[in-house]
Amino acid sequence: MFLVKCPHCKQNMKYQKMKGYGLKDKRKRCVYCGRSFKIKGNILKSIKDN
Ligand SMILES: [Zn+2]
Repeated sequence: MFLVKCPHCKQNMKYQKMKGYGLKDKRKRCVYCGRSFKIKGNILKSIKDN
């Protein structure tokens, strides 16, 4: 799990990384403004999920 920041509206949200997939070229749609952005480069920190 990562904390990512939308570069458009600057809101923070969680991102669940899929098993077996890298972060390269991964995109996420912002839940606040609806625009998509690249995960890589917008990660604030990783969150440990147990
Ligand atoms: Zn946004």
